[in-house]
Amino acid sequence: MISLPASLATAHRVVRHWADDLRQGALELDRDPDAIHRYLDLPAVRFLAGHEVPPDWDRACTAPGSGPAHGLPTLERVLVSEELARGDAGMMLASPGPSMCGVLLGVLGGPEQREWVHGRLAERPRWTCFALTEPERGSAIGEMTSTLTPVGDGSYVLDGEKRYVGNAARADLGAVFARVAGTERLGVLAVLVDTADPGFHAEPLPTVGLRGAQLTRIRLDGVRVPAERVLGAHLPPTRRGMWSIVSVFNQLRPSVAAIALGIARAAHDYVGEHRRLLRGPERETYEELGRRIDAARSLTYRAALAVDRRPSAGHLASAAKARACEVAEEVTLRAPGFFGPGARLDQPLLDKWARDARGVEFMEGTRNIQKLNLFQGLHTGKVGRN
Ligand SMILES: Cc1cc2nc3c(=O)[nH]c(=O)nc-3n(C[C@H](O)[C@H](O)[C@H](O)COP(=O)(O)OP(=O)(O)OC[C@H]3O[C@@H](n4cnc5c(N)ncnc54)[C@H](O)[C@@H]3O)c2cc1C
Repeated sequence: MISLPASLATAHRVVRHWADDLRQGALELDRDPDAIHRYLDLPAVRFLAGHEVPPDWDRACTAPGSGPAHGLPTLERVLVSEELARGDAGMMLASPGPSMCGVLLGVLGGPEQREWVHGRLAERPRWTCFALTEPERGSAIGEMTSTLTPVGDGSYVLDGEKRYVGNAARADLGAVFARVAGTERLGVLAVLVDTADPGFHAEPLPTVGLRGAQLTRIRLDGVRVPAERVLGAHLPPTRRGMWSIVSVFNQLRPSVAAIALGIARAAHDYVGEHRRLLRGPERETYEELGRRIDAARSLTYRAALAVDRRPSAGHLASAAKARACEVAEEVTLRAPGFFGPGARLDQPLLDKWARDARGVEFMEGTRNIQKLNLFQGLHTGKVGRN
């Protein structure tokens, strides 16, 4: 197992301590995603509200361990995500803050754009969204149909539809990915939007797992995007488009793996706490599941470090995400077996974790897509270079 730098180990301990608070709201939020408004003062929620915010802007968050990471931002997000998802992944995903938008801004945002987003986040708890996925096209960037039509002065008009976007119905601002009208498959840009702008319509969707994330359908009807909200415009052309977008996804994927691990650990710990006298085959199964979680964690840490060293090194991240989701599904589906028939009805947390694990499978691309990515890496010889 990787040994953590001292500052990161301290932050890890602090965050671990907060996870139990998140558990308190888990079932309530599962029933009603708006319940998050009753938990905004929890330390974990306050931490997430300011987590990616640079220190200058960190007025809203006084929690220890907040602010920029310790030179290993992806590994830090992994540690935080696993611990908080062990508390409750729904509560974690429902929390306000820069979230995925913060990572995108870190790679593609110019100083004024960061100021615009982080300044507004510092005023009060606000949600952001990160709109990529489209109906019938999933999150395949090359197939995206949402368009940015240039209007001549560097600004654009944004049209299209997005689906399954976390927190979009409660967000004040966000990032939207779209293709510049008339360009080829790779002419994709990310732009910042104010959700109060005319033409931005968001409507929550009914879901089964990770209900706290409040997945949303977005309709974009002629939303004006001023030139200053186009991300990456200040970067050299080679760093503006796909290279940066792919590196953002590489940085996000290990933390999605960590969310899966957190859910798996929640279910595994629950079995350990509520079935103390495990013997024989049951004990062996329990211990084997624990070893699988540990192995997937080890892979996830390695994937995070690889991305921290080289943001384009995302193949291990795909392997970690695929493996962690597989383990989360296995653990959460087998955990009820330790409690006999009807366990998912009698013990609502066990039922919730099984539904949540299935939800993480879809975040950031399914296992099949991660396997395709990994295969491409093996085929081109890039995997060994991680
Ligand atoms: C909790 C949650 C939060 C999310 N948050 C966001 C968000 O904030 N922003 C956002 O933009 N999106 C978000 N998403 C959407 C997520 O990114 C998509 O669900 C995901 O990319 C898969 O797309 P899809 O649902 O259209 O499924 P599809 O891509 O249509 O996949 C459906 C099935 O087909 C399989 N499949 C697809 N293509 C292939 C292939 N080439 N080979 C083999 N099998 C294939 C898949 O493995 C899957 O089993 C979120 C989803 C969830 C569940």
